Amino acid sequence: MNTFELDNEYVAGTYGRFPIEIVSGKGSVVCDSNGKEYIDLATGIAVNTFGMCDEEWTRAVEKQLTLFQHTSNLYFSAPCARLAEALCTKTGLKKVFFSNSGAEANECAIKTARKYASDKYGEEYYNIITLTGSFHGRTVTTLAATGQDVFHTKFKPLTEGFIYCEPNNIEMLEKLTSENKVAAIMFECVQGEGGVNPLEPDFVKAMAKIAENKDILLIADEVQCGNGRSGKLYGYMNYNITPDIVSTAKGLGGGLPIGATLFGEKTCDVLGKSDHGSTFGGNPVACAGALSIVERLDEKLLTGVLKKSEYIFKSLEGAPGIKSVSGLGLMIGIETERDAGEVINDCLKEGVMPIRAKNKVRLLPALNIPDELLVKAIEVIKNAAKPI
Ligand SMILES: *Cc1c(COP(=O)(O)O)cnc(C)c1O
Repeated sequence: MNTFELDNEYVAGTYGRFPIEIVSGKGSVVCDSNGKEYIDLATGIAVNTFGMCDEEWTRAVEKQLTLFQHTSNLYFSAPCARLAEALCTKTGLKKVFFSNSGAEANECAIKTARKYASDKYGEEYYNIITLTGSFHGRTVTTLAATGQDVFHTKFKPLTEGFIYCEPNNIEMLEKLTSENKVAAIMFECVQGEGGVNPLEPDFVKAMAKIAENKDILLIADEVQCGNGRSGKLYGYMNYNITPDIVSTAKGLGGGLPIGATLFGEKTCDVLGKSDHGSTFGGNPVACAGALSIVERLDEKLLTGVLKKSEYIFKSLEGAPGIKSVSGLGLMIGIETERDAGEVINDCLKEGVMPIRAKNKVRLLPALNIPDELLVKAIEVIKNAAKPI
């Protein structure tokens, strides 16, 4: 059997895959089993920060692989400690817990918020406000956190204690935080799966004010919009706020599984010995790769991200068949007159690989995608978006 047949036979049917088998890639070009090349605008859903098999990242990972691939968290290891230092130095946050995915990073954030509020105000302060349209993961608790009914229906009962607020509705947030015993507000600065929608600055400002006044923790879910994607190191840095907890994953590892939960002043000592743990968390190979990514997310790189972003917005806004363009940095949603799925299929035929977010065509290219590939890809998207 070929790969398609084997997968259909033996892999659980949770994914609607495109009929494409990826066999290799270099930078922003990926190659399928027919030898066809695509300009990669998806990067494995914002994971391959510097594209496929980036040389610096590969070198860092290979170097660690020849030393040791894993130990347990019963011992110290340098890649984990050095990555934590880099994340704290670059953000001003104080401590880090490492895990293996976005959902786990959020689980850790939620546990920490609940322990903080419970220690300080009592066990009934367990509620966490999240936003409608959000996406926080696939575990039973992070599904509950996800503010979209479609994710809830089949898996009840979900973890209790999540309350949903409309994004950008300050009045509703004020009401919900007054009427409930709230531990934290959790949000994506740019809702990714929800349609690439950035929060409005006024709402974020009001949210931070409410949180400060009521000692409610702010949890920024930076799994998708973090690690340079938004044009700043973390998405919240576009809004001049300092969250108490930041969760991230996806692009942090540059292609290997890693999750991280960063704690600020208020939360850095909430979790104590045996309050949390992870067998693979802080894996030295994943951390060595991640460190090589984080070290490169400097001002020069971020300026490049903003330039490429500006180019995409300018080229697409107002083009025939394009209704709107949303997002921040290199996390972009395109609302098209034609069905987004059809536009994506036409792009794939032409060797360009975007993905979808709700009714939009979503672009998540490598942060260092070469300009000439970006120009080519945007032309293909414009053509595909033109009404037939
Ligand atoms: C992808 C994503 C998650 C879940 O990450 P996994 O690694 O799939 O568990 C959580 N939050 C946001 C914002 C995401 O985009």
